[in-house]
Amino acid sequence: MKIKVLFDKIALNKDLRTGWGVSFLVEGKILFDAGEKGEWLLENMGILGVDINKIERVVISHDHWDHTGGLWQILKERKGIKVYSCPGFSKEFKDKVKESQADLIEAGKLTEISQDIFITGEISGAYHGKYMPEQALVLKTGNGLTIVTGCAHPGILKIVEKVKTKFPGEQVYSVLGGFHLKESDKRAIEIVVEGFKKLGVLKAGPTHCSGEKAEEEFMKKYGINFVKIQVGQEIEV
Ligand SMILES: [Zn+2]
Ligand SMILES: [Zn+2]
Repeated sequence: MKIKVLFDKIALNKDLRTGWGVSFLVEGKILFDAGEKGEWLLENMGILGVDINKIERVVISHDHWDHTGGLWQILKERKGIKVYSCPGFSKEFKDKVKESQADLIEAGKLTEISQDIFITGEISGAYHGKYMPEQALVLKTGNGLTIVTGCAHPGILKIVEKVKTKFPGEQVYSVLGGFHLKESDKRAIEIVVEGFKKLGVLKAGPTHCSGEKAEEEFMKKYGINFVKIQVGQEIEV
């Protein structure tokens, strides 16, 4: 399967917009998160030749502006599109999706939304002492599982462990996205990288809120299996 990076903090070339938050497009049809700003997301789609009309579903990892910001513009262009949230997202978010005439689906548990493309359903997490539920995307391919995360507020290891229990016997091929380690110290980061190795994660692509220190540590420990994520890049999983 192919994952195209539509929004993130760095890009393949300077014409592409960058900023806070992430947005990934899977197989040209499933949008995972929408970055901080709709206009920028659409600009990047234009440059990258992405046809917005081919997007069938949008999955939002969690209810934070840097992941939902671009959503509203998408919903204007694609009336009636399916939007997958967690039941625990805010009422404001859900109301706004419904007002945009989108089809809001609140998935509490693991759901296959397209062939071999799953959402984990709500995983409990916290952000600055407040409950922050989050879901991740799971792609099942011949290589194994690829997990795509937004911010990983529940904890990146907890997400990977949870996915592993839902897909017994499956190898985790790659984990890509925000790992939320930017406020973590060196030892905490090492524990996560060691945890990845223990869980048998073959490739790691930390970006966004993972933080520079964590990205460096993963790069060091993963070597050629470190996945650099930049806007415009297409990642084959
Ligand atoms: Zn974020
Ligand atoms: Zn967040």
